[in-house]
Amino acid sequence: MKAYRSMVLVSSDAKSMQSGAQEVYQRLQEEIRAFKLEDEISLSMVGDIGRHDAVPLVIVYPEAVIYGPVKPEDVHYLVEEHLYKGRIATCFQAPVKELSGRIAWLSARKDTLPAEQKIVTGRAGIVDPTSIEDYIVHDGYQALGKALSSMTPAEVIEEIEKSGLRGRGGAGFPTGTKWRFVAKASGKKKYVVCNADESEPGTFKDRLILEGDPFNILEAMTIAAYAIGASEGYIYVRGEYGLAQERLLNAIHEAERMGMLGKNIFGSDFSFHLHVHSGAGAYICGEETALLESIEGKRGEPRARPPYPTTNGLWNQPTLVNNVETLANVPAILRNGAGWFSKFGTKSSPGTKVFTILGNVNVTGLIEVPMGITLREIIAIYGKGMKNGASFKLAQTGGSSGSIIPASLQDTPMDFDSYRNAGVSLGSGALLICDEDTCVVDLARVLVNFFRFESCGKCSPCRIGTQRAYDILTNISEGTALMRDIDDLKMLSENLTELSNCGLGQTAGTPVRDILNHFRAEVETHIRLKVCPTGVCPMSGRKV
Ligand code: SF4
Repeated sequence: MKAYRSMVLVSSDAKSMQSGAQEVYQRLQEEIRAFKLEDEISLSMVGDIGRHDAVPLVIVYPEAVIYGPVKPEDVHYLVEEHLYKGRIATCFQAPVKELSGRIAWLSARKDTLPAEQKIVTGRAGIVDPTSIEDYIVHDGYQALGKALSSMTPAEVIEEIEKSGLRGRGGAGFPTGTKWRFVAKASGKKKYVVCNADESEPGTFKDRLILEGDPFNILEAMTIAAYAIGASEGYIYVRGEYGLAQERLLNAIHEAERMGMLGKNIFGSDFSFHLHVHSGAGAYICGEETALLESIEGKRGEPRARPPYPTTNGLWNQPTLVNNVETLANVPAILRNGAGWFSKFGTKSSPGTKVFTILGNVNVTGLIEVPMGITLREIIAIYGKGMKNGASFKLAQTGGSSGSIIPASLQDTPMDFDSYRNAGVSLGSGALLICDEDTCVVDLARVLVNFFRFESCGKCSPCRIGTQRAYDILTNISEGTALMRDIDDLKMLSENLTELSNCGLGQTAGTPVRDILNHFRAEVETHIRLKVCPTGVCPMSGRKV
């Protein structure tokens, strides 16, 4: 591969594209040509570069100078100053937000703070997501090559089991065990399915992984297919993720061109064909059996389980369904070994977790950190503290279907088992951070409304239960509820969890359960005094 004096990267995540990244890229191409620098400067569009509002970003390596937001009219000066004259164009540098000095414990723990560790998102923002050559230069396809040339399918599964990787979609099921179930199942044909139907409000980590490093998912699925004996796979992508779909289709085309996908991969006997299936906007299709129904061309409704997809999945054949983030770990594990992977995170939840941080913090965005970090650390280090010096009240994990985490659990290690032992769940990784002005009744009402709207209606505990819970929460927020409604709410949340057919209904009661467990006094104040302590609910214009 040709060596260049400088490498220029333009962020091309969805937000950057909406903010004119394509125009900036074209102007850079023109200006680099105009200054006759095309033999010295490489220019690429890359995925999400990092947590920053000032997009589109332009990064110049090896100096690692970050410019942003860059407008097309800035490009001439930027190229002339930095790339031609070798002087940093300081006027266009992206503003750097400093760590908040308000947090006393942060300075006390300065030397022991966990750093970001990028296993899943390491290449995103560095490689050109449309170039298979760039992916290969950055260790791409080493893992598949190793698996096909020197490992049996059983050895691949053993390595994944030894790594301790657990599903990152929310449930935390051991990935290697799932692979083994499908490998052992008998069927005429086996499938690998990547669940990329990320539809929870506030969750966008899978989109950034797919947009920034699509070949990694292809490589992981091909490794999984080899391990379990599958010959065909589907990536089920949320319908709204147009850029991710475009990049995946391009990646499939490129991988087939290079003999890394399709018939006789790497000249071996192993063949694997991959398709992209676009979702049509139903949240329920993120549930794995509804997703399979949808791929089969049917209405996206969850199936009754058992049997599970591992034995009776797509077209009733054994099917491995893994989440995007789970799969994204696979090539790195095979490349570096299970022992390397299990050094990160905690003993029972090794590796990293990708979180999206939203809400009342100073810096929002995507991070990848070792499992076992605490919420307090995430807010202080990566969120750069609470906005306007407000106090932390709660966090909602995992989009709508996660838990509401009160301040008393801020120091609980964020791993599957520690959270489960504390009676909450890690969810899929979206963190909505809320300050003292957040009303828990209003929050629960919004979350339950989401489930009410998205319920597929197949089973009555969910179809009727979400509507009834929403009505009661509305009454509480409007000051027309009675104290006995709290008992009804509690019963509804238990029924939703125990009687619903699928994960949507089973988690729909979680917000209700959590506010009654952790913020009951605030709920009671709404009913007894007809006052919303935060002044959010419509019955009250004042705070008490
Ligand atoms: Fe449909 Fe809700 Fe029942 Fe799931 S729990 S099958 S979403 S009605």
